[in-house]
Amino acid sequence: MKMRAKLAVLAVVVTAFLWRDTFDPESVRGARVLVTGASTGIGEQMAYHYARLGAQLVITARRESALQKVVERCMELGAQKALYVSGDMSNPADPERVLTQAVDLLGGLDYLVLNHIGNSPYGMWDGDTDYVRTLMQINFISYTQMTKAALPTLEQSNGAVVVVSSLLGKMTTPFAATYASTKFAVNGFFGTLQHELAMQGSNVSITICTLGLIDTQTAMDKIRGYTDITPYPASEAALHIIKAGATRQKESHYPWFHWFTCFFRDWFPYIRDICIQKSFNY
Ligand code: NAP
Repeated sequence: MKMRAKLAVLAVVVTAFLWRDTFDPESVRGARVLVTGASTGIGEQMAYHYARLGAQLVITARRESALQKVVERCMELGAQKALYVSGDMSNPADPERVLTQAVDLLGGLDYLVLNHIGNSPYGMWDGDTDYVRTLMQINFISYTQMTKAALPTLEQSNGAVVVVSSLLGKMTTPFAATYASTKFAVNGFFGTLQHELAMQGSNVSITICTLGLIDTQTAMDKIRGYTDITPYPASEAALHIIKAGATRQKESHYPWFHWFTCFFRDWFPYIRDICIQKSFNY
């Protein structure tokens, strides 16, 4: 075989080895988990997967009636414990309060899954800077507040922070300026924290999950009329996030090909921007 062919085969074998599924479902049984934004969407699906895996769960969001229903379903699915604490992440006092209550209810914490986002409709930026500030509090600052409050507990448990981010935290598209800003902030903050925790010899892992378009109700309502990009299932995305957190990956992409989207992002910027703009209606 020619040298180039041998190298190509080797590259495929190494890639397959590195991307193999090493997730052990038993590693999550009994784990104490707080999932934010779990009244609906991907967070709700994560709650159900954690429940099936036998975790002890606290979920949070604003709407108590929706949280109550998710908790009941989690108990049916096999959660060792399922409770909720309601909170509004636009209120600067709530992130720490919710975190502290969850730790009290669970007797510690193994996974902090940061997933919630505030309402962020699609559209040309309208100059509303008050909304930028509000969404920054919900989508970003509350993440830092919960992480700060959780780190001492997570140090004790060799725990993990799992951050749900977006392709829009890595590259920009039209119609989502404020949302994208919050996700870039999330990626910048948690990427930095990964370095700092490693340099300090911390045993807390941080996983940043980069998601493409997922078929949650809010996302589908948001993009209708703007783009025909194919969405991927929320339940699969949720399981992917849980596995990435449990296997302590630094970064993870769902669907998988967004690893390549990020890899090639800056190679041909002119063509990239034409392609992006052509996939949105204006
Ligand atoms: P979603 O369906 O809109 O759910 C958002 C969750 O956040 C809900 O549980 C909502 O519950 C809660 N929430 C909203 N405002 C809140 C507030 N002020 N305080 C506390 N909780 C609040 O979102 P999703 O589509 O599942 O997205 C989940 C995560 O995936 C997000 O981090 C998002 O950026 C990421 N993501 C999603 C997509 C996608 O296409 N869906 C793509 C890339 C990344 P309440 O209304 O009850 O508070």
